Amino acid sequence: MKEKKIEITYKAVSPDELPAEDRELIERAKEMTFRSYAPYSRFHVGAAIRMADGSIAEGSNQENAAFPSSICAERNACWHASALHPGMAMRKIAIAARNVGSMPEGEEDKAPFQAQPISPCGACRQSLLEYEHLHGPIEVILYGADDSYVFPSVASLLPFSFTEF
Ligand SMILES: [Zn+2]
Repeated sequence: MKEKKIEITYKAVSPDELPAEDRELIERAKEMTFRSYAPYSRFHVGAAIRMADGSIAEGSNQENAAFPSSICAERNACWHASALHPGMAMRKIAIAARNVGSMPEGEEDKAPFQAQPISPCGACRQSLLEYEHLHGPIEVILYGADDSYVFPSVASLLPFSFTEF
């Protein structure tokens, strides 16, 4: 038996340290949290993807009374991106979230952004990874009000992924 180890490298950053185009991407992800439809979880997530031509495709989480029919912000954004620009590389994705659960009804927009970044669920990682395999690395920017992280690729968040059959 041989024990093996996996390591990932990522950056802890302040958005101020990022280039203007990345700060813009974060702002778009933050804006998308205000377009979430999440009456059940009351957890509002926004995502924005920078395409190879510089344009941005966005998504927010959309829930449904039949819970499995709901969709995360990250997959919403990535499928939106692929539908808008079939075959075009996705270069970066930024993700932000606000938990509006503690806010009174009608004041959800006042809920602050999560202090620590949230990361995409396994299904979203798998979906993003497919586009990464087709067109090259997608940098992942996880925004938090106190800390933000930058990962070099989706693969770095999903070792031993399912890639082919
Ligand atoms: Zn997800």
